[in-house]
Amino acid sequence: MPTAQLINELQSCGVRLVDPNAGHQSRRGGAGPSDHKAITIDGMTVMVPVHTAPAFESAYLVDKPDASGRSRLSRSGLTLAEVNFPVRPRFYDLSTTDGIPYWKIAVLHGRDVLATTVLQSCIRYQSRTKTCQFCAIGQSLAAGRTVERKTPAQLAEVAKAAVALDGVSHMVMTTGTPPGRDRGAAILAESAAAVKAAVDLPIQGQCEPPDDDGWFSRMKSAGVDTLGMHLEAVTPAVRRRVMPGKAQVSLDRYFDAFAAAVPVFGRGQVSSYILAGLGDTKEAILATCETLIALGVYPFVVPFVPISGTPLESHPPPPPQFMHEILSVLAPMLRTAGLQAAAIKAGCGKCGACSALSTYERAV
Ligand code: SF4
Repeated sequence: MPTAQLINELQSCGVRLVDPNAGHQSRRGGAGPSDHKAITIDGMTVMVPVHTAPAFESAYLVDKPDASGRSRLSRSGLTLAEVNFPVRPRFYDLSTTDGIPYWKIAVLHGRDVLATTVLQSCIRYQSRTKTCQFCAIGQSLAAGRTVERKTPAQLAEVAKAAVALDGVSHMVMTTGTPPGRDRGAAILAESAAAVKAAVDLPIQGQCEPPDDDGWFSRMKSAGVDTLGMHLEAVTPAVRRRVMPGKAQVSLDRYFDAFAAAVPVFGRGQVSSYILAGLGDTKEAILATCETLIALGVYPFVVPFVPISGTPLESHPPPPPQFMHEILSVLAPMLRTAGLQAAAIKAGCGKCGACSALSTYERAV
């Protein structure tokens, strides 16, 4: 099976781990996609669901790794690939001067991405009627796995260590949406400025479109290299159903914001996460991707992963064929437009671990 399709299958179906403790700490709870574990297949590190209901029943099985971390991926007894697990990052063993373990400030995603949720609370998360139904931003906080507000000084300290000890090559800073019109742009700007003063590390900021487009140049000057403004769902009815609070920011506002942000950050340096499998048709997703690409925005289409404890925990992930029919069309569209994951300076599109999209791109 070609690797792109295999990765696509694994991300839709998940994998069963013979040893649930294989690899380093899984990503559970938090903002955005979760309940994954990083696994390296054919040299490519991908995030694969391991803690979801479909993963517990997946036909894909990963054996207990040997002493060097190597393992075997199989299906019905047939070996498909050798896989290994990234080792626990060294910076996880350190604590800040005020005694907070570094892994509560930022974590390793994929192979070499430092990721943090600067503000682990969100105006959208306060009530069931407003919360994004797929999001678990409050869960890791409630479980004591993170702190609510990471200060610029803490982020700078952890980023410097993660570069020095573990060779991270870019950083993702996301945030819950705070009250106020900037929608998180201000705390991203001050956090990026502190990190950039400590270490030369490309940074992606992720937030909702701020009310004032002037925030794009403020964020850029502060050290945010690339920007993610995530649509998640693309059809108005699906947006209202799965993210009733965030859907109050209209699609028109998103597209105006994309048009204003691209000249600041550059073509292909603004991106949008699209979660396939929430109810949008593949035609709707591809039509939105076409609009985004025309604006110079990289559409990062990832399969929805049902996270335990969220209102959508029983919603099925998209079938692999659904993802294949999107990604196999999207990859050539990106190629024709000259947008590519590899050219992104920082962020989820560059990391690519949550989707098979970049593998499809390489196959074009
Ligand atoms: S694609 Fe984004 S969310 Fe997924 S592992 Fe990479 S940095 Fe993290």
